[in-house]
Amino acid sequence: MRKRVRLFGTNGVRGVVNNDMTIDLACRLGYAAGTYLRPGDKVALGRDTRGSGKMLLNAFASGLLATGVDAVDLGILPTPALQYNVKGGYNFGIMITASHNPPEYNGIKCIAPDGTELNRCEEEKIEEVYFRERFREVEWDHVGSILHEDSAIEKYIDGIIARVDTGIIQKKTPTVVLDCGNGAASVVMPYLLERLGCKVITLNANPDVISPARESEPSESNLEILIALMRTGKADIGIAYDGDADRAVVVDEKGRYHMGDHTLTLVAKYITARKKGIVVTPVSSTMAVEDVVIKNGSRVVYTPVGAPIVARKMIDLNAVFGGEENGGLIFPEHQYCRDGGMTSAFLIELISSEGRISTLLDNLPRYFNAKSKFECPEGLKHRVMQEMTSLAGTKGRIDTLDGVKLWVDDGWVLVRPSGTEPIFRVFAESKQRKTAHHLVEEWTKIGKKLVRNLMP
Ligand code: MG
Repeated sequence: MRKRVRLFGTNGVRGVVNNDMTIDLACRLGYAAGTYLRPGDKVALGRDTRGSGKMLLNAFASGLLATGVDAVDLGILPTPALQYNVKGGYNFGIMITASHNPPEYNGIKCIAPDGTELNRCEEEKIEEVYFRERFREVEWDHVGSILHEDSAIEKYIDGIIARVDTGIIQKKTPTVVLDCGNGAASVVMPYLLERLGCKVITLNANPDVISPARESEPSESNLEILIALMRTGKADIGIAYDGDADRAVVVDEKGRYHMGDHTLTLVAKYITARKKGIVVTPVSSTMAVEDVVIKNGSRVVYTPVGAPIVARKMIDLNAVFGGEENGGLIFPEHQYCRDGGMTSAFLIELISSEGRISTLLDNLPRYFNAKSKFECPEGLKHRVMQEMTSLAGTKGRIDTLDGVKLWVDDGWVLVRPSGTEPIFRVFAESKQRKTAHHLVEEWTKIGKKLVRNLMP
């Protein structure tokens, strides 16, 4: 039996290629997943544009086939495109991606038969098989087969087009600049937007990750070229994606970069205006979402941080919309996962019917954010959390869904232990810039002091 550590992190299994992310790990994980599934089950496999993708995909597939499970290789495609196809007729899905991580990384993510990311409980079952190494090896005449399928992208594009009013878009023919970051967006988004009726200008849309033109995270500092292009005033909206295109962020027609929480708020506003209901978002999201949702006679339900948790809660509550502040938006009528393609189509339909993206975003309630962190050894995290919670409880209304969130007069502060690093993260939001900074400073100081006092 292998030394037991937790294999799956918040985003599947990730690591540096040929270091901790090896073909041995991929093959054994393929064995484990195949053993967890039934002989004859059909698994869809996909990958982002990373050079190591094919190597890991083939290793994983070999493990699967040995257990008598069949594999179907859908090729390079965004994670939401794979999820859409899994929901449409596979018993399971595997995505080889490390999302926004640097090119030397890669990862393996499991998709449940309904197209959502596999929940922790099911992941544990696969981990159990992996560590015990009790793999099912079928007789020679029952090994699985591997097929290739090249219509997955088209099915995904068709699915999105069915959810928007292409007539409105075609009347306006907006000009859109897409920054695909040399990632999986490259093989879908330009074609999707052309079919929607947009004039499309592409940046970094060749799937090349050995020497990508920008880092995969669509942060403001990584999008200088897109921002400069938008400042020329010749396009209506700029959209940029992360490596596997489940997240999308916007640069408006004036060349201003907008964080994902702006698009989250904007979409929440227009969806609840059309259909009242519940919007699900993690405790770390902006209060602006709650402001616009309540105004439309709807309500927000908060969850711990993590897209799969948001998606599952949305299913349980039959929510009308959900998403994260990093640009990962979930449209339940389309599918229960973050979807960069659906986000793009929705925003383009919105600017075609409601006007300029800059005006729509400027009309949203505006808050100021601040963030910080402090170090804390793993062994002390639990005690620090307890002390933090009882202290915050004496100061006002608190929420302990994920870390501790304390509401103050015109904002909130959230102190959360990191799941992957020996640190606590501190976030604050307020109508006043000063208050947000003050809250973060105050609670970082409190945290540091608690850690010092609890140190042996
Ligand atoms: Mg991603």
